[in-house]
Amino acid sequence: MTQPADTHLLPTYTPADFVAVRGAGSTLWDQDGRDYIDLGGGIAVTALGHSHPELVEVVRRQSDRLWHLSNWLPNEFAPRLAGLLCARTFAEQVFFSNSGAEANEAALKMARRHHHDRGDAERVQIIAFEGAFHGRTLLTVTAGGKYTEGFGPLPGGIAHVPFNDAPALERQLRAAPTAAVIIEPVLGEGGVVPVDPGFIAEVRRLCDAHGALLIFDEVQSGMGRSGALFMYQQLGVEPDILTSAKALGSGFPIGATLTRAAIGDCMQPGTHGSTFGGNPLACAVALRTLELLDDEVLAGVEPRAQRITEFLTELGGNRRLFSQVRRTGLLIGAELGPDWAGRAMDLVRLGWRHGLLTLPAGADVLRFAPALNISDDELGQGLDRLSQVVGEFVQGG
Ligand SMILES: *Cc1c(COP(=O)(O)O)cnc(C)c1O
Repeated sequence: MTQPADTHLLPTYTPADFVAVRGAGSTLWDQDGRDYIDLGGGIAVTALGHSHPELVEVVRRQSDRLWHLSNWLPNEFAPRLAGLLCARTFAEQVFFSNSGAEANEAALKMARRHHHDRGDAERVQIIAFEGAFHGRTLLTVTAGGKYTEGFGPLPGGIAHVPFNDAPALERQLRAAPTAAVIIEPVLGEGGVVPVDPGFIAEVRRLCDAHGALLIFDEVQSGMGRSGALFMYQQLGVEPDILTSAKALGSGFPIGATLTRAAIGDCMQPGTHGSTFGGNPLACAVALRTLELLDDEVLAGVEPRAQRITEFLTELGGNRRLFSQVRRTGLLIGAELGPDWAGRAMDLVRLGWRHGLLTLPAGADVLRFAPALNISDDELGQGLDRLSQVVGEFVQGG
């Protein structure tokens, strides 16, 4: 597929052949006025829908007042956003950046620095899980394990163990002094695979027993996606460091690394920084986003998720299209049956022709990450279109 509007972009993506120019709620419109129901949410980003009027108002007001300050100057919004994030989580301190990869990069650097400053400079191993995704910087992409070909030499000290495998984790913890274990509580890019509750409790116990910090990458699972503000709150297991991005700014770029003061205090002036991180415009949008993610929105996640899951389960029986439907709140993955293996992107593309936006999660999983506040009407329309897409897909064989 060719780039529709601009052939001077690096060929890193294979985008659709239409250009979306406007959005409202969970609907997008392209240049020709065709509408699309958005069940992908820009990859779990637009959790409150497109162009939420209150967020538009914040951007409008703040862009009139002040966009950027250097980090030499305090701004109105970063401390308020950090304060609210801490009030609603385990955390006591926050570092702001611009993306999920940067939030994880800061988390991993902080973990190593923490041990270094406590006189344990040998404690550098980072353990991550197979199938995980943590971003595209050299450190975070190495933690993820995929997408590293041709980019070596890769940063050292990173080991991988199978997801949901406690004995393997314990063996790796024994193999070298470990700075941190980094885990997505649900593998997002890796196919929407939720962590076993028993396993995550064991991860916490093993980290404590071996002196390793536990990092939850909640870039995708956080900001209400699971039905709790962050998924650790549902699992009842508290991390030492938590990262957020994606929906944090409703699509305005911002990332955050949250921790307790006993860990964050190692990041003294000069250790880390970001020119844009914590800028007033991004923080104002994220602050309002967090305020809008109230109990009512969170309570709306489960019924919507159930409706989609039931629909998918029924639909997936059609010529055994789906072998399994997995979910964590409104992060839903439908695994293609063996007859349809490797064809998730074909389904997504066919959706585009029917005015429907979904996502792949790997080659075999069709992923849904709609806005948490998607209206009944839009959801109904989206599912109708999905029926048509699936009908055509299974007929085409
Ligand atoms: C998307 C994602 C990232 C990377 O975020 P970017 O903003 O693209 O850097 C990291 N971790 C998880 C779990 C993600 O889903």
